[in-house]
Amino acid sequence: MKKIGILGSTGSIGTQTLEIIRHHRDEIQVTALAAGGNVDLLEKQVREFAPQVAALWSEKACRELRERIRDLDVRVVCGMDGLLEIAALDGMEALVTAVVGMIGVRPTLEAISHGKDILLANKETLVTAGHLLMPMAREQGVSILPVDSEHSAIFQSLNGEKKSRIKKILLTASGGPFRGKKRKELEGMRAEDALRHPNWSMGRKITIDSATLVNKGLEVMEAVWLFGVELSQIQVVVQPQSIIHSMVEYVDGSVIAQLGLPDMKLPIQYALFYPDRRPMAGPSLDFYELAGITFEKPDMETFRGLALAFDAMKAGGSMPVVYNAANEQAVSLFLDHRISFLEIAEIIEDCMGRHQVVAHPDVEQILEAERWTNEVISRRHAR
Ligand code: NDP
Repeated sequence: MKKIGILGSTGSIGTQTLEIIRHHRDEIQVTALAAGGNVDLLEKQVREFAPQVAALWSEKACRELRERIRDLDVRVVCGMDGLLEIAALDGMEALVTAVVGMIGVRPTLEAISHGKDILLANKETLVTAGHLLMPMAREQGVSILPVDSEHSAIFQSLNGEKKSRIKKILLTASGGPFRGKKRKELEGMRAEDALRHPNWSMGRKITIDSATLVNKGLEVMEAVWLFGVELSQIQVVVQPQSIIHSMVEYVDGSVIAQLGLPDMKLPIQYALFYPDRRPMAGPSLDFYELAGITFEKPDMETFRGLALAFDAMKAGGSMPVVYNAANEQAVSLFLDHRISFLEIAEIIEDCMGRHQVVAHPDVEQILEAERWTNEVISRRHAR
């Protein structure tokens, strides 16, 4: 029986992970669940999966959950201490990191330091702390199994091949809901427009990141850390149907790709059972039905967020933290209708332009760079 914990169990990735586990209850036991403030759904999940520990972010939400599940033998823990306690939980073998944002940094590092394998969805952690996370994972002998569909595709395409034989990683992108549009057309786009992704159903933040192509930028950085390649070896290719989830080109010119319908359950299940493959219910790719697979170059002039990710990674050190933190704040302002769509990339660029890079930041310096970025943005957008 594999014992796992899930941070962000009430979100898009979290609920899909539990949906898979529901069909494999004889093989996977859920020992811990954590969410932000969704007491109703977490209570349901706790009743169904009977973890040892459940966590919520605020004291108030924790008190409410404790009260509601007094009839159960489940410890309710709270805030960052709660997430850290789950990360270090005795007996838990693997942690699914499906919280959104940099909140995942400390729990992920804590889990690795306690020898837990990581099923990594929370890309913001790898982007901002990849230089700490990857060496620590190697030292502790833990696996970092990608849940992001593109990275799972790369991981699957690399299976059994030597890293030194990689020529290029071809990271595919759907192009998001605004593919093909120019800056003028993007000026009036609202959150409601950006939240309509053509192929994927995901949480709100990542859906906006897909519209700005910041998501692709984060994935570029994620790929550098996960696969140990140079930034110059990563090429973003727009593939609007989201059928090819990414590809690897080898030194001999062979290209190996992973294809499938756009369904996150596939990479989640692959990570849960790696190195095994399990049957998956539901439709699969039908090449007779598929009208075609097309390719385009990303428009990095219109979608500045992607170009800025390359700049941030080139600058290195704390710059990816600023890129990511500025984006987190800007997306939240955009979702609150306080800034326009194009201002998201402007805010990221502005913060990056003001930042003095700290080389090889430790956790405290990472969190300090996040605080600094938040202050810059708060001053700019004080109500
Ligand atoms: P959602 O917004 O759907 O879910 C986020 C989860 O994090 C929820 O369970 C939320 O709890 C929880 N959470 C938020 N804040 C806190 C907190 N302070 N403490 C504890 N838990 C918290 O996000 P997604 O599932 O879409 O994305 C999760 C991560 O996975 C992101 O990093 C995203 O980039 C990545 N990812 C997502 C994909 C997708 O298809 N959705 C694909 C690839 C990567 P609550 O519900 O209570 O607020």
